[in-house]
Amino acid sequence: MPNSNDCPPLSDRKPGNGIKQVLVIEDNSLNLKMFKAIIAAQGYDVLEATTGLQGLELACQHHPNLIVTDIRLPDISGLEVIRTLKSRVDTAQIPVLGTSAHALASDNTIQECGCDAFMPKPISIAKFILMLRSLISRELSADTAISLLDASVIR
Ligand code: MN
Repeated sequence: MPNSNDCPPLSDRKPGNGIKQVLVIEDNSLNLKMFKAIIAAQGYDVLEATTGLQGLELACQHHPNLIVTDIRLPDISGLEVIRTLKSRVDTAQIPVLGTSAHALASDNTIQECGCDAFMPKPISIAKFILMLRSLISRELSADTAISLLDASVIR
């Protein structure tokens, strides 16, 4: 399992261009395509990963403004991805939106892993867009965003 010291030094990372960046970690190609299209249409830059470890690597390299992660991934689980992100000083403050079609049986596990919000699949595109905006802008707290969206709220 990756440890909390795996992030490269800040000086090794690519400089930002001012455009908000969203990292999507999703192994299903159709879901990935959908997420990318929705996020890009909002004017955000999209980074994509199809495994948990690739997602962690990109998170460290690019320090995105938001991470959207599937829970069922082919290598480590999305829950482990979230726990690792939240355990690292460099990535702990990045909002994480978890999403899964299989989450209801493990609500406690999702809560314990520390994601900022969760949306069940199939997602509502309208709600997903509002969630993206609110988590990125931080104009709304996650709790406020969730109550507005009537989505599953973690914290
Ligand atoms: Mn999956």
